[in-house]
Order: sequence, then structure tokens, then C-alpha cells
Amino acid sequence: MPELPEVETVKESLKTLILGKTIHHVDILYEGIIHGTTKDYFSKRLENEILMDIGRFGKFLFFRFSTITLISHLRMEGKYFLKHSFELIAKHEHVIFHFTDGTSLRYHDTRKFGTMELVEPGNEFLMPNILLMGPEPFDNQFNLSYLKSRIKSSIRPIKSFLLDQNNVSGLGNIYVDEVLFLSRVHPETQVKNLSDSEILKIIDSTQAVINKAIELGGTTIRSYLSSLGITGRFQNELNVHLRALKPCIICNTPIIKIKVGGRGTYICPTCQKRKG
Ligand SMILES: [Zn+2]
Repeated sequence: MPELPEVETVKESLKTLILGKTIHHVDILYEGIIHGTTKDYFSKRLENEILMDIGRFGKFLFFRFSTITLISHLRMEGKYFLKHSFELIAKHEHVIFHFTDGTSLRYHDTRKFGTMELVEPGNEFLMPNILLMGPEPFDNQFNLSYLKSRIKSSIRPIKSFLLDQNNVSGLGNIYVDEVLFLSRVHPETQVKNLSDSEILKIIDSTQAVINKAIELGGTTIRSYLSSLGITGRFQNELNVHLRALKPCIICNTPIIKIKVGGRGTYICPTCQKRKG
């Protein structure tokens, strides 16, 4: 599943390839991807639009056209490929943006869980899915007092708390495991029991992990491949995720896999002691 660093990598690679292109027409082969409007309106509204910029918030991509913004969420398996318009439509290509220069941007999604929605420029952050989202890991707003205000007296495990996009945007399963390992915090720790210094460590580790992942282009775990076959190198840097039975890089204790809130979770049982 693409997480924030992968989506950032997709955004940056798409920017180098398609900025400035003009849409000739859009073919929608599976309309379940399109939300908020009919597929006919969606196609018509995008005709003749010029792609001015691509932005991102959490795992949402914002394609900013001259007079409309397209918000795309890749969910589990969404990918974009740039091909010539005359190339045959491949299996799982559901939305095809044909540009006036004879190229086409193809949205490929084996699971069909991805979404696309049009929004008036300036209203991106009023979208119901986006409005309630917490700050990104690098925002100034993601700090001790903010997290304490979200934690209050909650007994949620810290892992579930960090996966909740309303607390912080863009953290997924892989990165939360890495963050908690670096912070030496057991993922089942109830958030109300975290000390200030542990919360500060979690903030620092979150920023370190996400920045490093962006620098290395994210991970490519499972079938995820960022646009145009750019593969992430961050998977070589994972300290605990998917390393069950391998020695901890700090203390040599074998890494174990547990379940937290239904999610497969990797920890070092020595470095990440359970509290209480
Ligand atoms: Zn260890």
C-alpha cells in the first residue's frame, strides 16, 4: 500500500513528466473510481484543461489544472503510467487521460479501491475526507502540545493512534512500526501512559523515518511500484518491519511479529518493553 513517502515520490516523478500538458479527452473504463460526479461530467470538465501543478496532502494527490483540481487517492494498488495514446489499453487501466501531445496518463488499479474526485480550486481542504485529517509529520503543528491534546485520557494503543489519519496524516503500517522501534516504545502502550519524553521521541522518529523514506523514494513492498517503475530503496533500510526472526540491529534479540488492532506488527521485544 503506498504510504506518504511513496505518494510523494509518485508526485515528484509525475511532475517531471506531465506538467504543462493539456487534456484532449478522458476515457473512463470503470466508473467506480470516480466519486462526486457522473463519469460524463468528469470527462467533459477536464477537456482542454492544462496541468499546472501537482500537490499532495497525506496520501492524497492534487492534480491542479487551469480551472479545476482533481484529487486522487491510490488506496491499496493504484499506480500511474505514462504511455503513448495509441498503445493498447492494458488490463486494470481504468481511467485514461489523453493529452493533446499524443501521450496518455493511465490510472492502473488491480483492486479498484482508488478514488478520483473533482473539486473547485481552493476547496481541496474542505473535502470531507481531508477536512478532519491531522497535520503531516513535518508540520510545526505536529508537536508535543498538539499530541497531548489529541491523547487526553485515551487508552488506545499508540500504534492505532498513529495510524489514525485524524491524528497525523500519511502514516501507514510500515512506517509506524519503524517509528515505534526507533522510539523504543511498545506498540500496545496506551497513549495516556506515554511520558512527554516518549512523545517527543515519537515526533522526532516520525520525522526522521518519513524524511529518509522520501529521500530514498519510499518502499516497494508487495506489488506496489511507483509511477514508471521507479522503485523505492527505503525497503533496504527497514529496521523491524518484515524482519521477523532476524536479529535486532541494536541488541540482537530476534524480531517478533504480533497483532495490534488487527494489523501485523513487528517489534524487538527487548528494545520495546511493554509498560506496566
Ligand atoms: Zn532490540
